[in-house]
Amino acid sequence: MMEKQKHPESLMMTQGYRPEWSEGSLKCPIFQTSTFVFKNAKSGQSFFELAYGLRSKKLKESSGLIYSRINNPDLEILESRLCLWDKADSAAVFSSGMAAITTTVFELCSPGDIILYSEPLYGGTAHFFEKILPRFSIRAIPFPAALGPEKAIEKLNRAGGLKKLSLIFIETPANPTNDLVDISACVQFAKRCSSSKRKVVVAVDNTFMGPLWQQPLSFGADLVLYSATKFLGGHSDLIAGVCLGKKDLVERVRGLRSFFGCMADAWTGWLLLRSLETLKIRMTEQSQNASRVAERLLKRPEVERVYYPSLLPADTPQGRLYASQCLGPGSMISFDIKGGRKQAFKFLDHLKLIKLAVSLGGTESLAQHPATMTHVDLGPATRRRLGIGENMIRLSIGVENYSDILSDIEAALRAAVR
Ligand SMILES: *Cc1c(COP(=O)(O)O)cnc(C)c1O
Repeated sequence: MMEKQKHPESLMMTQGYRPEWSEGSLKCPIFQTSTFVFKNAKSGQSFFELAYGLRSKKLKESSGLIYSRINNPDLEILESRLCLWDKADSAAVFSSGMAAITTTVFELCSPGDIILYSEPLYGGTAHFFEKILPRFSIRAIPFPAALGPEKAIEKLNRAGGLKKLSLIFIETPANPTNDLVDISACVQFAKRCSSSKRKVVVAVDNTFMGPLWQQPLSFGADLVLYSATKFLGGHSDLIAGVCLGKKDLVERVRGLRSFFGCMADAWTGWLLLRSLETLKIRMTEQSQNASRVAERLLKRPEVERVYYPSLLPADTPQGRLYASQCLGPGSMISFDIKGGRKQAFKFLDHLKLIKLAVSLGGTESLAQHPATMTHVDLGPATRRRLGIGENMIRLSIGVENYSDILSDIEAALRAAVR
């Protein structure tokens, strides 16, 4: 009889690790070592042949441990657990979300290639696309998140650039507007633009919703990227990143990771193993808290507009996309306060429980001002075009008691707008 497949949260404590490997230790130890001892010269030779792709893996053969830049048990166990939520074939863990993104893009793109990307993007990614990739003759062209890539693809086609398209890179929901990008539509466009010689890859930065509330691989995306610094780590005490998805692509990205040397270290891997055990309960509580905060903000006279996926009207394209693509609203809320920068700053300076900091997805609630902080690099014209106003505030809601979060927000709103 086939064994019933267990749920990811049931496997997060055990997948990929056997206590008998480590003196019966219930928990996986930290393998704080740079290098690994080979049983004999032959096995050393065999491990290296695999690591450099000089031969393919035999059936059931796993890659041997060589050196912690190439692989390490904490990372391998972590990678096997990260595959569970997203139902990925393979995962590779990085020293940061930016390391995961930049290594993936460098593996997939060559000089002359074109990337289409949804806008707004995380500031670091936008800077890399706009300021750094042109030095390598790779051009990145934005399209508005809520509209999708259709118009940009038509324009590219007319300019004869379609055969140079190698990657569609999206971030959904977009930060900080929470605009949703249609993953299935991007996958269809990528298929149409692919040829037998060139596959257009769809990569999704799933940091804001994943892996609980959105699983892009199930809509046909090829790769999913994470800043594991956020929800996956979940305690605002580490920096890490992940690339996961289809095996052939992830193995290529992992190969480049070995040469860039941007893997996570064993200690960070171990911390992430611990974090993943509580991922579902953290994200569930955070999302429930955030739903209550969003609904309360909607009723406040000091608030002009609230950006939160479950508040999207059901009969609009964005509302329908939310219903078909997301499994929950998540815990990132933006809102426009009545007034301008002065009122926004006053609100931030009057918060007591909620801390004034960038980053997101941790156990504690955080607030920040996109126009002067995370999105200052865009410049005023782009911010205006993307709807990021001087009166916008972004909240990341944590696991505190929701009534304390609400009182803190309401007191600060009263102080900011009199
Ligand atoms: C934070 C973040 C990143 C960058 O991740 P780091 O771990 O800081 O390198 C990328 N994308 C999104 C959506 C993020 O929020």
